[in-house]
Amino acid sequence: MSERVTPQSQDYAGWYNDIVQKAELADYSPVRGCMVIMPYGYTLWENIQAGLDRRFKETGHVNAYFPLFIPESFIRKEAEHVEGFAPELAVVTHGGGKKLEEPLIVRPTSETIIGHMYAKWIRSYRDLPLLINQWANVVRWEMRTRLFLRTAEFLWQEGHTAHATDQEAQEETLRMLEVYADFAIRDAAIPVVKGRKSASEKFAGAITSYTIEAMMGNKWALQSGTSHFLGQNFAKAFDIKFLDENNQLQYVWTTSWGVSTRMVGAIIMAHGDDQGLVLPPALAPHQVVVVPIWRKAEQKNVVLEAVENVKATLADAGTRFHIDAREGQTPGWKFNHWEMKGVPLRIELGPRDVTQGQVVLARRDVPGKKGKSAVPMAGLAQAASDMLTAIQANMLAQATHFRDKNTHEAKDFEALKAITSDGWALAWWCGDIECEADIKERVREEAGIPITIRCIPLEQPGGQGMCIGCDKNATEQAIFGRAY
Ligand SMILES: [Zn+2]
Repeated sequence: MSERVTPQSQDYAGWYNDIVQKAELADYSPVRGCMVIMPYGYTLWENIQAGLDRRFKETGHVNAYFPLFIPESFIRKEAEHVEGFAPELAVVTHGGGKKLEEPLIVRPTSETIIGHMYAKWIRSYRDLPLLINQWANVVRWEMRTRLFLRTAEFLWQEGHTAHATDQEAQEETLRMLEVYADFAIRDAAIPVVKGRKSASEKFAGAITSYTIEAMMGNKWALQSGTSHFLGQNFAKAFDIKFLDENNQLQYVWTTSWGVSTRMVGAIIMAHGDDQGLVLPPALAPHQVVVVPIWRKAEQKNVVLEAVENVKATLADAGTRFHIDAREGQTPGWKFNHWEMKGVPLRIELGPRDVTQGQVVLARRDVPGKKGKSAVPMAGLAQAASDMLTAIQANMLAQATHFRDKNTHEAKDFEALKAITSDGWALAWWCGDIECEADIKERVREEAGIPITIRCIPLEQPGGQGMCIGCDKNATEQAIFGRAY
């Protein structure tokens, strides 16, 4: 397979597909709509899982597992929920050669089956809050597949919590949004915007949905995680009640929140370039790749001996590293190969370096000679660790600069069309669902761009302005843009 990818400027979608396959993250499946996550892509997912799972546990959550199959009648119990999910359900009608008495839904999300179990487990206020997360796969029937971004089956985590009061559940919803933002910013180096979804974009069955929105390299938005305040909708549908401290029977208040393998797509598109992936050190399967270089046979042993020292040093420092001592591939080929795979830091080690007691470091985030430096072998552990920290910070700074450079305030409708043709627009919006539909339709008709309201950012400028759509008074600004 050629190591060259379609340039981003030529065909962004083609670039994305090339990266996913050439970096060996995922492959197409024989089953339409599904994907095969390859070992390198799965290791990246495992690191994402670890970063999130640690944060979930630090905030008091525990993991459990609920069944893949959900009785069809469960899905119908919450009216908005069934309406939202009906078009994309996969249904099992037969099992063991017999027609089932009640068809089973392959879970698209688990509010219903978990709600059913919570009704059984929750008796009194002493059982609350109940803070459970599950790591699982879900199925939402999709025919237009984009690996990691939109597939019929994907992996995710779904948190489901139950609380005694409205306020506690709302606090939990925002706490988990904060956890997602912290993960995205610190680990994935993606400067997400925290916000609330408009009514037309919220989760089917939620009172309020919150999101973290990220800007991709083509200036489209990617919804990268969501947290929903479900009020008492599911509690009433599944009869989840508890006896409060005054011995009164009350419905609980619930939340749900999820991040999926879409996060891999976010990382690819927030950081990748025409040489391939660029992975943040906090999540990269290999933080460092070591490429030993020799030409003559007598140099080989000297170099490989020095590589053993490098290996011991990196292992002691707890760095995730890989040594590429394969014969039959040139160093240049290896450089390209690991650049494609986005390894943050490369260590080159040749006979001259051994003589001089040094190694050469090459940063993935700073291409060419500018990103190369020689460091003494003696200080390698510290130098490598410092450089990984610098790379992580620089990636976040670059992505933040890119997002800010491509986000502008739209003062009128003409500006909204111009700005959203190549970035995000911030504009005053009245909050009306019909006004939102009207704005979308007008931009599509007049500029040919399918935009949506990505979110109403939690951080607002304050004051008020005239709604971009209907000229009515507005107290909040929204982000408008194209999205995946
Ligand atoms: Zn309006």
